[in-house]
Amino acid sequence: MSGPETPVLRPEQALAELIEGNHRFVTGTPSHPNQDAGHRAAVADEQHPFAVIVGCSDSRLAAEIIFDRGLGDLFVVRTAGHTTGPEVLGSVEYAVTVLRAPLVVVLGHDSCGAVKAARESLDTGTQPPGHLGAVVDAVLPSLRRAAAEGVDDLDRIIDLHIAQTVEALLENSAVLAAEVEAGRCGVVGMSYRLAAGEVRQVAGVLPPAAGADPTAG
Ligand SMILES: [Zn+2]
Repeated sequence: MSGPETPVLRPEQALAELIEGNHRFVTGTPSHPNQDAGHRAAVADEQHPFAVIVGCSDSRLAAEIIFDRGLGDLFVVRTAGHTTGPEVLGSVEYAVTVLRAPLVVVLGHDSCGAVKAARESLDTGTQPPGHLGAVVDAVLPSLRRAAAEGVDDLDRIIDLHIAQTVEALLENSAVLAAEVEAGRCGVVGMSYRLAAGEVRQVAGVLPPAAGADPTAG
């Protein structure tokens, strides 16, 4: 039913789609939308993803599976620990301005290895070898903030890192901040539980719900 001319959703509608899809996944009733050959052909020429996922690379955090979506739905950018270097920012800006995606979701999770590695680095004063150090360095500001706020529980540190990532996206991308300011895009942080399969919103900004006219602006 959904073709290449799928209308762009409002940010709060996009968020509702994701939450509904996650509910289907959690309850074992996925509908696997937009994964058939017909839809594959329909979106081959152009894409209109309704959400950008800035997620951790963890193999158990596959966005299309946990939100029960398919081809052309999600624009996914993943790094260990959902870091926000220039290539990540550029990818988000492309999805939001060129593809007109109305929602950016930072997706973190419990037991995150990148957060654990950063905590170990902070505790021991040692740096992991090779480029792994860059991942740890990118996560460290969240660990320092947690320490300053007296937060020691790993789950709470992870939620704080998700919130910090939302803030970092908005602070470091003037392009994204302008889209949010104009009411065209929302940015939210979600925490995923590996065993339960459930997401929970822990941070973010959504523009006020539109009065009505979807063609306005
Ligand atoms: Zn992780």
